[in-house]
Amino acid sequence: MKIFVVNAGSSSLKYQLIDMENEQVLCKGLCERIGVEGSCISHKSADGKVYETETPMPTHSEAFQSVVFAMTKSDAKVIDSFDDISAIGHRIVQGGSIFKGSCIITPEALNDIEELGALAPLHNPAHVLAIKACIETFGSEKPQVAVFDTSFHQTMPAKAYMFPIPYKYFTDYKVRKYGAHGTSHNFVSSRCAEIMDKDIKDLKIITCHLGNGCSITAVKGGECIDTSMGFTPLDGFMMGTRTGTLDPSAITFIAEKENLSPADLNRIFNKESGVLGVSGVSNDNRDVVAAAKEGNERAQLAIDMQRYQIAKFIGSYVAAMNGVDAIVFTGGIGENDAALRAEVCGYLTYLGITVDTDKNALRGENKITTDDSRVSVYVIPTNEELAIARDTLALVK
Ligand code: ADP
Repeated sequence: MKIFVVNAGSSSLKYQLIDMENEQVLCKGLCERIGVEGSCISHKSADGKVYETETPMPTHSEAFQSVVFAMTKSDAKVIDSFDDISAIGHRIVQGGSIFKGSCIITPEALNDIEELGALAPLHNPAHVLAIKACIETFGSEKPQVAVFDTSFHQTMPAKAYMFPIPYKYFTDYKVRKYGAHGTSHNFVSSRCAEIMDKDIKDLKIITCHLGNGCSITAVKGGECIDTSMGFTPLDGFMMGTRTGTLDPSAITFIAEKENLSPADLNRIFNKESGVLGVSGVSNDNRDVVAAAKEGNERAQLAIDMQRYQIAKFIGSYVAAMNGVDAIVFTGGIGENDAALRAEVCGYLTYLGITVDTDKNALRGENKITTDDSRVSVYVIPTNEELAIARDTLALVK
């Protein structure tokens, strides 16, 4: 069975085709600038063949048609026809309190995803466009599945997901913590239990997804009991361009001083803050680390702040679970930045964590602590596309 995994944004479309017999990626690609001048597709097959072209894509429908061409007719083709594809799995950012797991996309589910656009205006409307374009391109008979970033976090108790604001904002507008990166936290925590050869029901795991966006989740007995991202992916600790948690009065103070609108604040705190805002160098971890090495003090400060905040979140989740058996690092930074992992673990020696420096320097999936470390720390590469494909397969089978 082949599963087509789709991650659609308002002007972009990322995709992978996965053969579920061996869970191998057959091809992957990206359509960019959908709806604007200069739309293009970049497609790569597993054997390294590339198809890249600029072609008009006024809507997601034309983007899918380009993908069909790339997959079935281009020099980098991997299948003869889309009939070879059993189902389509969509990454959906916001499932609200409605979706507690992945689901087959029925007209009712599509309607719910559309309505949840109020909570994720940058994402859900784009997902809906992509789902409708798939129906147009592949027909309504081709099963489509929605896999939500939020559903893994739906097990949080109210004491974790409620905000201490007047209750009417929860009842009237559904303002609460939803979390994000759920597919990744679910994937790496399950894999962690597998590596440890233990039943996840008996484990307390803290998963750190550190990429451009960053979040940390407390997974107790296989269920999320708390997570750092909140109402939106802006909450938690500092990321490439996002603030993480802020004193609300700092926000109102700055807004008054500079006469800023809510839209201005959204832009500043989502796109101009975090590691970029403090360092003034870049949102990319590698650039900031390089600048710090050359003596840039603000770059060093940004690095220090982020690592300190990560350690504090981990500590708070040790408290929330009354213990921890394993900590997992994943995402572009979590998987690749050995110095960050060593420094964060350095804050946690009170837990009996001892990092094995040689193992920490290795690439790929590894346990990075010594055998006598009281808590095991792992690097586990995340694979959200594979997780989406697995859920899709399970639902359409
Ligand atoms: P996204 O959240 O967009 O999926 P990624 O998970 O790919 O992002 O993470 C991107 C981040 O990972 C960037 O800040 C990048 O600098 C960092 N990163 C990638 N490779 C390395 C590396 N070898 N060393 C340090 N940081 C890295």
